[in-house]
Formats: sequence, structure tokens, C-alpha cells
Amino acid sequence: MARRIVEGLWDCPYCDTRAIGGLTKSCPCCGHPQDTDTRFYIGKEKKYVEEDLASQYGQGPDWVCPYCKSLNRIRFQYCAACGAPKEESEDNYFSSSEKQDAIKAEKEAKIAAMAGESSGSINSDSGSRGGGGRKSVFLIVALLAIVGILIFNLWPRHYKTEITTAAWARSTDVEALRTVQESDWTIPAGGRKTDSRLEVHHYVQVLDHYETRSRQVSEQVYDGEETYTTLSNNGDGTFTEETHSRPKYRTEYRTEYYEEPVYRSDPVFETKYYYDIDRWIVDRTEKSSGADSEPYWPELTLAENEREGQRYEVYNVVVKSEDKSYTVYLPFDWWSELKAGDKVEITVSGGKVKKLNDRTVPQQ
Ligand SMILES: [Zn+2]
Ligand SMILES: [Zn+2]
Repeated sequence: MARRIVEGLWDCPYCDTRAIGGLTKSCPCCGHPQDTDTRFYIGKEKKYVEEDLASQYGQGPDWVCPYCKSLNRIRFQYCAACGAPKEESEDNYFSSSEKQDAIKAEKEAKIAAMAGESSGSINSDSGSRGGGGRKSVFLIVALLAIVGILIFNLWPRHYKTEITTAAWARSTDVEALRTVQESDWTIPAGGRKTDSRLEVHHYVQVLDHYETRSRQVSEQVYDGEETYTTLSNNGDGTFTEETHSRPKYRTEYRTEYYEEPVYRSDPVFETKYYYDIDRWIVDRTEKSSGADSEPYWPELTLAENEREGQRYEVYNVVVKSEDKSYTVYLPFDWWSELKAGDKVEITVSGGKVKKLNDRTVPQQ
């Protein structure tokens, strides 16, 4: 770590002369001494103090004269401008700068706060009333419209009308015992084996071989030392420049090889059985229907290997409201109490008949 002393610069606040050398304690133009308004800074080009003089600087900040506010070198016992003694001094370059900066920051914060208060309150007020208000009114209107349409459609309406038609339909499956061919991994009861062979039951993943693959990997490699400098204000018109060093790294890439397992699918064989078996199969469906109140099951003519299967039945009445007609499906017991020409009352909602003579209609 190397240390060097750099001479700083300052601007005279009285005659506006700029970039005066930090070691020149009075302005060369107007003669005003460096004081509590003076701030040292580094110029574009660094001016180094000669090595045999360097030891005089960086020993401590200049002291502030309590009477004329000028800055004086630490080794001076009396103020160069007015002759006041050093022992009465309470501040140095850093402590007085800090105090002045604090006072300045407080003033600026106060001004900013006053400006912010007035402009901020105007903004927030106009914002919430203008756009927000209009948007919520539009939303409420849209919601009311949707709710209105829903209510209009679902609102139950009553009609006094009559049954135009009462109809029924019945059907019965006819099943036949047939010999069918099936195959499976086992033969069920009643199956008569006709054949068996080995077939693929499922597949398993088996390690087949390894393949060499490559990938790029990066590494941080030590690449010597690099230097950098720091500057610190000494408060006496000079700065101390320190040179440090730190390790430098560079990124290196290399190809890495690795083995990747490759799998294959191997079939697992098992015995599959082919067999004949007798099953009841739906052969046909016999139907009957009518627009009267006397339903009957279709007449079945069964061959020797046939039997009666599943039965199905539906019953409905047709009613009219104004210009629309509805088909209402009812359970047999209810339907059998009604016939064409009967006066009825219906309740319609959502495009369906919900009630008939005040009884709730079961919905499909
Ligand atoms: Zn000046
Ligand atoms: Zn003085």
C-alpha cells in the first residue's frame, strides 16, 4: 500500500476565483483567507506534493479561528489573519463543515416540505373525485343491467291453460344367448379355450449402454493483482491518495465429458388365452307408444335362446303458455291422473315448467 499527498483545490466565495491551490491559504485575487465557507476538492488532474514536503500534511485538519472564521494550519499557534490563539478554537475544517451542511440541509428540507404540502393536497383531491367516481357509476349501472336481465328471465310466471296432449312410450330389450370370442390373460368361468399364445403384456425400462456426452463448464482462474486508489480529504487543503491491490480473476471455459445412461424398452411376454363364451347380448328393442291414457308393454315373441331384458318408460303432457308450448315429463302415478283437455295452472321460469297445479315438476 503506497501513500501520496495530493494538493486539493478551493473556490473563493468573495471574488469568484476558481481552482485555487489548497496550500494557498489566501485568495491570490482579493486576499481573503480560507474560512468556514471553503470546501476542498480534487481537480481533473492530480497535483502531487513533492515527497520531501509530503510529511508536513495529513497531520490533522485546519483549525477555525473563533473570531474571524479563517482556517489555520494545525502547527500554527496563532491565527494568521487576526492573531487569535489556537487554544480558544472549538472547531476544525470537518466539524464546522458538518455543522454548516446540517443547517443548510434543514433549511432545504423545510422549503421542500412546504412546497410538497400545498401541491400534494391539490393533486390527491382532484384525482379521487374525477376518474374514480365516473368509473364506479358505470360499474354499478352495468351490474344492475345484468341482475335485471337475470331476474326478468328467472322470475316465475303463472299461466292458466289446458293439457293439449298426454302421451306415453314404453320399450323392452330382448336379449339372446350367443357364443362370442374373447381373449384375456385368464379364462373366466364358462369360457372354452380355443387357443393360447405368448403376447406382450407390458414393457420394462432396461439399462442398455452408456453414451459419452460433453458440456461446457466455467471456472474462475486467478489472473494476477490489480491496483486501485482511494482518496481521503485531510481537511488541510490536501488529500491522501492510497494505492491498494486486490486479486483479479478471469473466467475460463473447458469441455467436460461425462457418461449418460441410455435405456431401452424390453417387452415382457405372458400367455394370452383365446376362448369362446356364451353371453346374453341385446338383440333388439321392442317398442310401444300412444297418445292415450292406457299404456301397455310391447308384446314379446321370444325364441328358445332369448329372454326379456331391461325395460324403459316415459310419460309426458304438452301444455301451452301464450305462444310457447312445453313438453312436461312426469312420473307414471302423476301422469295417470291427467288427460288431454284438463284445465291446469303452470309456473314457468328460465324457459321450463317448474310447477304444475302447484306441484313441483321433477327436472331432468
Ligand atoms: Zn478572492
Ligand atoms: Zn482570526
